[in-house]
Amino acid sequence: MHEMGLMDAMMRMVKRICEEENLTRVDKIVLEVGELSGIELPYLHDGFDAVVHGTEWEETTLEVETVPGVLHCNDCDIDFPLKNQELFCPECFGKNLSIKEGRDMVLKSIEGD
Ligand SMILES: [Zn+2]
Repeated sequence: MHEMGLMDAMMRMVKRICEEENLTRVDKIVLEVGELSGIELPYLHDGFDAVVHGTEWEETTLEVETVPGVLHCNDCDIDFPLKNQELFCPECFGKNLSIKEGRDMVLKSIEGD
């Protein structure tokens, strides 16, 4: 599961932000996770728990906001929302698609003091 590696990288980013902002405590971390990122949310939470276990972030809450997936058909030149994980165009039923939105995991905000 690569979610644990992602969490590890994210916590390193959090640590750097804490140093920059002089935060001694982090109450909440808010992440935006795209529907098309391939990230499994239960694994993400498990990865987070594993990474923060025994650290100063053990009490930190992880909040995840899902970003809806938007696809683009390269043949019809239209954008359409992802529905039921169906990866084909609703107009031509083709699979010549690009991902417009929902591919990334973004650290949205950190709450603490
Ligand atoms: Zn199409």
